[in-house]
Amino acid sequence: MNDTTSLHDELDLLARNLRWFYDRPTRALFQDLADRLDGVDGRDPMAVLHALTGSRLAEVAADEELRPRIGDLATALREELAGAPALGPGNRVVAYLSAEFGLCDPLKTYSGGLGVLAGDHLRSASDLGLPLVAVGLAYRDGYFTQTVDGAGNQIASPAPNDLARSAAVPVVNASGDRLFVHVPMGDGEVAVQAWRLSVGRVPLILLDTDIEGQPEGHRAITWHLYGGDRDTRIRQELVLGVGGVRMLHAMGIEPSLYHLNEGHAAFAALERLGVHRRAGQDLTTALAAVRRELHFTTHTPVPAGHDTFEYGLAAYHLGPLSHHLGVPFDQLWHLATGPGFPVWNQTVLALKLADRTNGVARLHGEVSRSMFASLWPDRDTANVPIDHVTNGVHPPSWTGPEISELLDEHVPGWRRGTDPAAWQALRGLDPAVLWDARQRARSRLLSAVRTRLERRATRTGVSAGGAGLDPQALTIGFARRFATYKRGTLMLRDLDRLGAILSDTDRPVQILVAGKAHPADRDGQAVLRQLVEASGDPRLAGRLVFLEGYDLELGGLLTSGCDVWLNTPLRPKEASGTSGMKAAMNGGLNLSVLDGWWDEAVSDQGRHAEVGIGWSIGDRAPVTDVTERDTADATELYRLLADEVVPTFYDRDEAGLPQRWLQMAIDAIVLLSPVYSTHRMLGDYARRYGVTGA
Ligand SMILES: *Cc1c(COP(=O)(O)O)cnc(C)c1O
Repeated sequence: MNDTTSLHDELDLLARNLRWFYDRPTRALFQDLADRLDGVDGRDPMAVLHALTGSRLAEVAADEELRPRIGDLATALREELAGAPALGPGNRVVAYLSAEFGLCDPLKTYSGGLGVLAGDHLRSASDLGLPLVAVGLAYRDGYFTQTVDGAGNQIASPAPNDLARSAAVPVVNASGDRLFVHVPMGDGEVAVQAWRLSVGRVPLILLDTDIEGQPEGHRAITWHLYGGDRDTRIRQELVLGVGGVRMLHAMGIEPSLYHLNEGHAAFAALERLGVHRRAGQDLTTALAAVRRELHFTTHTPVPAGHDTFEYGLAAYHLGPLSHHLGVPFDQLWHLATGPGFPVWNQTVLALKLADRTNGVARLHGEVSRSMFASLWPDRDTANVPIDHVTNGVHPPSWTGPEISELLDEHVPGWRRGTDPAAWQALRGLDPAVLWDARQRARSRLLSAVRTRLERRATRTGVSAGGAGLDPQALTIGFARRFATYKRGTLMLRDLDRLGAILSDTDRPVQILVAGKAHPADRDGQAVLRQLVEASGDPRLAGRLVFLEGYDLELGGLLTSGCDVWLNTPLRPKEASGTSGMKAAMNGGLNLSVLDGWWDEAVSDQGRHAEVGIGWSIGDRAPVTDVTERDTADATELYRLLADEVVPTFYDRDEAGLPQRWLQMAIDAIVLLSPVYSTHRMLGDYARRYGVTGA
């Protein structure tokens, strides 16, 4: 009896701490446990935990292999947690506020790249022992679950979060009662409760308005991730920004710095202003104090990606808050508008109220400075105070098992380190060993692809294609949101030309495509449909397939298994992009437009490459005519594939090894992994935050 209690506690600890997402032994444990339970998904540790009761738990307790394994993993996690930095009073603490967090597939708390980055931010902060607490929203429904019918129509079905059965636990006060804070809005005070998740050593607080007894209009605020109209959006952002600051305070956490991840969290600035005003400061002093404690990161050069609110809506919802602040609404309005920005703009508010602001790649910093230059009329664009911190990805989360094994052997400390010199040890790696790892990663991907295609064919009654797929063939990946600027159909501009490249029997090439289109974005859905239609075009010989349901698992499979990672945005609209970084860490080669992170990777790291880190499509010339640019880029894409990529992959020595290709893969791993890592990124932020790791 005692042992099943302690066993349950250990499993509870391991399942609830989202560190399992990147701790392969813990993941494997839950998969092995699920294999003993009928119909339980091993990729969802909480489902495994809930299913392991009574005699089934007793069986595990008596299992000579599993029982000690669970004990060891729980001990390791407890030891890691014991080293968590203190977040109590007197410590310098950073609060990281974001509308989405990509934590794991069972929790539908993200929609795309912004959320995945936020998840990686927390995972790295945990590894580095940074004193950070994160705040987000507890959505009852996440972004949608995607399926695609036989004709290529995207079907968006709900992606519910059952918080009570999830890894989240209610945030309570000392007497065990739920903690509530209130957020003023146009139609009264909204009550907010919270859930707590653990990402390794980092706590994540998710705010929730779905409280019994509260009017339906208020309960519904956190029902849908980015759901509803502008009214819902401003309410959600008030909960995140104002509610976030208040909830941390109610929990006894007093951050010295607030990092606003995108403009969604900008109302935190107003709440902090209120705190300083209530302490008796005049407006000028209070504004200066707020500026010192805010860090703002902007994430997109696409204007529609910046939240705006009309005067009437902003005045209605911010009226009560402005009253609390003792600042007339019209004065607040000036803080969130400016020359060229006629209505309330969350990015403008954050830019004006944060001393430290940054874009997410060098080129994006430059683009952001010109986008917002009109707010600083007395400065040259180059002196607009927007810096950049280039994004990264969390290495243990995104390096597949095959390459992880090689790194464990050759680059000690790679899971937490960023010293570029450490990766140089890989230069001595036997190319045959790397090739073997790459072949295994591709085979693992292709077998998962086959399973997914069969599942879709069974469901739709229409073949999902893929007749020509071959685990030995050069495999190209393209997975991202189908926003039109990403030009998902660029590769389809000349199907005869593409077909000639894919269908070569001696040197076959296959393309795996995945991604979601926003349910309201008809153009994005048309891109998706064209890709599905092309997958059935006989010229492509069953070698282009569309994979539905892009999620973290599929993202990991594709970026670790593809040989080439394709990215064709219209420069300079891709702020950073991170999937290409994941591919590079795994020895995949990028074939990309010179945009986002790739633009600087080529300028900085490309110079140190012995053979090359990938291929660039087009140059840095400004776009004057979009159609012309599309044609030029498509032509260059086909040329690079036919003349460079395919010949390099299929140029084999007597042992069957593509020597030059493998040298490029080594260049990519050695030069890009330590730089495009969230460990490096967190180091950059930590310097700006003024904190150090534990
Ligand atoms: C990495 C990742 C992203 C972000 O990649 P981008 O290159 O920025 O599009 C989005 N979704 C998933 C599932 C990912 O794994």
